[in-house]
Amino acid sequence: MDEIKEECGVFGIYHNPEAASLAYFGLHALQHRGQEGAGIATADGKDIYCFKGRGLLASVFEQGGLAGLKGGNSVGHVRYGTEGGNEIENVQPMVARAQIGSIAVVHNGQIANAGELRCELENNGSIFRGTSDSEIILHMIQRRKGPLLRKIQEACKKLDGAFSFLILTEKNLYAIRDKNGLRPLSIARLNEGYCLSSESCAFEAIGAKFLRDVRPGEVIKLSEKGMESSFYTEETQHRICAMEYIYFSRPDSNVEGLNVHTVRKKCGKIMAMKDRDGLAADIVVGVPDSSLSAAMGYSEASGLPCEMGLIKNRYVGRTFIKPTQRLRDMGVKMKLSVNVSVVAGKRVVLIDDSLVRGTTSRYIVQLLKEASAKEVHLRIASPAIIYPCFYGVDTSTQQELISYRLSSAALREYVGADSLRFLSLEDLQRACGGNCCFACFNGEYVTPLYCHGEKSK
Ligand code: SF4
Repeated sequence: MDEIKEECGVFGIYHNPEAASLAYFGLHALQHRGQEGAGIATADGKDIYCFKGRGLLASVFEQGGLAGLKGGNSVGHVRYGTEGGNEIENVQPMVARAQIGSIAVVHNGQIANAGELRCELENNGSIFRGTSDSEIILHMIQRRKGPLLRKIQEACKKLDGAFSFLILTEKNLYAIRDKNGLRPLSIARLNEGYCLSSESCAFEAIGAKFLRDVRPGEVIKLSEKGMESSFYTEETQHRICAMEYIYFSRPDSNVEGLNVHTVRKKCGKIMAMKDRDGLAADIVVGVPDSSLSAAMGYSEASGLPCEMGLIKNRYVGRTFIKPTQRLRDMGVKMKLSVNVSVVAGKRVVLIDDSLVRGTTSRYIVQLLKEASAKEVHLRIASPAIIYPCFYGVDTSTQQELISYRLSSAALREYVGADSLRFLSLEDLQRACGGNCCFACFNGEYVTPLYCHGEKSK
């Protein structure tokens, strides 16, 4: 499969006697954001306790790791690593013991100038345990002077790229979002305390009441005094990653005030309206799960029935043993099956959320044709991805992007569809508003880019 993957989800609880268990449930709701590692750190006013491991959250904690996590404050993390390997050293939370006390950090996003900062820090004596750029944040903070809030603010000024992170100290909890607001982060009320999450769906899971999104450039401090807000810069803008709407976030999450399902459905509707002049088809089929909302929208606007033509096997974990192509193919087949009785003899409008390397779409079209679908018309509910992402999504080179390499005619031929159409960028902007990062579609990056330590725009 060539799904795009994002780097991580973060979750935090301030002031609740069940901080560790609530973090566990919150992270469960964020599991779709990362399956390579998970961890929780808690604080009881005197010290920080941490438990983490590689793999899915449930398997990390199945031997009772929650039992030792004491205290009323917590931060947690689910990891998909685009930067740094999958070694345990890179699994978060990252905990540091220093003169100012212990602190734990969890991070979602990618520091664009990580290489440059790491060199600088190493030259000044810092020693790194892992290769994740999240560790850089810790070092940057430790090396600044003054109270912790000022140290965080000063450190953030040096960071370029995407970062939503939580910092747990022995007594307090801080939430920080980069000045462009590239990665989501929201705050909610939970009884007398607070709760922070990459996605609002996790608030629902634990009964927390959504307050608002953390603002770009904002540093929120939660302490005995309550919630205090400050900004590390005045140069802020709202540029949430458009992929949160298209693919990453759960449909029941609200991102920057917009419900994800509703945005996806709108994209599907717009696509159907563009097809009005002439696409003769029998059924609409969405690729489960993230394309189902767009398929519903397409169905509603076109009048074609939305059918369950593809079934996802939810109980297939990651395939670690892939020694031969044949076994690799079997692994993929286990994840997705065709409902043959539904698609045989039908002209199918196949809705997929995005097309990155092309192998998944090609495979699904082939599956449908093998199941005797008469025609397959592939509709991608997002624009063609022709630029890499440097903000925590694993499309780091342009060459791996099939829409960059092939013309639309060659691409249609490659995936084997009878027709192929993408949502236009203008239509995506209509669906999710203009205040997003659209750089992987138009190359307009919201921060400077770095190449071998050189800064460019
Ligand atoms: S470049 Fe694309 S994937 Fe990366 S943050 Fe921007 S919109 Fe999201």
